[in-house]
Order: sequence, then C-alpha cells, then structure tokens
Amino acid sequence: MSMKPAVLVTGSSSGIGAVYADRFARRGHDLVLVARNSARMGALAERLRSETGVGVDVVQADLTDSQDLTRIEQRLREDARIGVLVNNAGTAIPGGFLKQDGESLSKLITLNVTALTRLANAAAPRFAESGDGAIINLASVVGLAPEMGATVYGATKAFVLFLSQGLGVELAPKGVYVQAVLPAATRTEIWEHAGVDVDTLHGVMDVGKLVDAALVGFDRREPVTIPPLPEAAQWSAFDAARQAMLPNFAQTEPAERYQTAA
Ligand code: NAP
Repeated sequence: MSMKPAVLVTGSSSGIGAVYADRFARRGHDLVLVARNSARMGALAERLRSETGVGVDVVQADLTDSQDLTRIEQRLREDARIGVLVNNAGTAIPGGFLKQDGESLSKLITLNVTALTRLANAAAPRFAESGDGAIINLASVVGLAPEMGATVYGATKAFVLFLSQGLGVELAPKGVYVQAVLPAATRTEIWEHAGVDVDTLHGVMDVGKLVDAALVGFDRREPVTIPPLPEAAQWSAFDAARQAMLPNFAQTEPAERYQTAA
C-alpha cells in the first residue's frame, strides 16, 4: 500500500481518464478506477500493478444510475485513503440542439454535471476536515465558446468551470485544491460518441501530452489549466475583465441605457 493518497479516477476505462490513472500510478499513488467497462479497467489495472507496483481497485459503475452513483459517493465519503478525485467521466452526443432529444440531453447533463457535482460534494467535506486533498474537474474550452455549436455539451463544461472556480473560493482556505482542466480537441473516443471524425479536425492534441501538461498545472496548483492555450496572459485578461465587472453589479437603479424607451 502506498503512503501517498489514493486517487479515484472516474472514466478511467479509456482516453484522458486512463492516462490520468497511468500517470498517478507512475507517481506511486494507489488507484480506484471507476467506469462502466470493467474488462478495460481490469486490463489497465493489471498492467499498472505489474509496471508500477501500486494497488488498483476496479469499481464498475454507471454514473448516470442513481444506485451506482450513491455507491461511489459512499466510497469517497468513507475511504480515508482517497485524497485525490479526478472527476473525468464525461461524454458528448451527436448533432445540434434541434436534432437532440430530451432523453439524451438529460443523460448528458446527469453524467457531465450531476454526477461530477455529487462526487465532489461527497469528497469535499472529508478533504476539508483533513485540511488537504485535491479535486480535478475535466471541463473544456468548449465551455468558453458558444460559437462552436456544441451548445448543451459546452453548457455542461461551463458549469464545470464555474463549479471548480467557486469550489476553489470555498475550499482553498480549508487546504483543498480544486483544478479545472480545459482541454481543446484531444484524440480520444469521445469524438465517436459525438459523431465527429476526429481526423477531419485540425489541432488535435495527443492524450498523453494533454494529461502531462494538465499535471504540470496540477503541481503548480493552478485553479484553471488550459493546456493548449499558448498565451497564459489571454486567460488572465479574460478573467480580470470578468472580475472588473463585479463591483458594478450592486445598483439600486437600472443602467441609464435602460431608462429610456427604444
Ligand atoms: P472517452 O475516451 O470517451 O472517455 C470517457 C470516459 O468516461 C470513459 O472511461 C467512459 O467509460 C466513461 N464514461 C462514459 N459514460 C459513463 C457513465 N455513464 N458512467 C461512468 N463512466 C462513464 O473521452 P475523453 O475524451 O477521455 O473524455 C474525458 C473527459 O474529458 C470528459 O469529461 C470530456 O468531456 C473531457 N474533454 C475531452 C476532450 C477531447 O477532445 N477528448 C476535450 C475537452 C474535454 P465507460 O464507457 O467504460 O463507462
């Protein structure tokens, strides 16, 4: 058993989550792998045990199923060895808003928003109590770009960014680190689920490079990490513009431009 905190990674059967599992194992952390495909997680667990010697638990769960989700929440609440939550499980669905149906949208939101929020909520009190711990939330640059047309997916990722920033404000004073990671297009299976041929896209990042860069941000305790963004100053300027508005919102009267008709 490792002396380092164990890391629970959701969506660790493929893509970004599988690479997070690999990288944390190589850093000497025991793992709890969570996803639906237990065969894939089993194979990853076997490889990581033999290559790194860490302990790996495989927990099959569909995070859109309320009983399964409750089981993972319970594990996060009760297993004091877990000190890092990688809230990575997420998906995308094909088409634009006019073609998407209510059931698929509801499932998308349940996984990308509800499950992620509930798992953070299960882990955070124990982390705050012990004065350490970290939550990594996988958002996306799509959450900054309504222009990209993946409207509901992007909205779920805007939620994840806001949630992470808000939790950072609430939990940093208690010693808990919260990171939002915003990848752009990264070569994983998510593109098949979104109905997009990834080879038609330009500027697609290798998944290993994405996670290694995100972990540089993690080690620096960045609140928001955007691996593909060349100029960090652009994010800082964007965030500063947002913060500059905040003192102006408390007004007893509407702004002058709304006080004359037309
Ligand atoms: P991926 O290869 O499709 O991996 C998604 C993971 O989530 C899989 O392990 C999948 O495993 C798991 N998952 C899906 N539905 C689940 C459910 N109902 N319950 C439990 N686990 C479930 O995609 P990825 O690109 O690595 O995505 C990882 C995260 O990165 C997502 O949050 C995604 O939105 C975000 N992201 C990706 C990109 C990109 O371009 N790839 C860009 C920005 C953000 P099972 O099928 O075994 O359950």
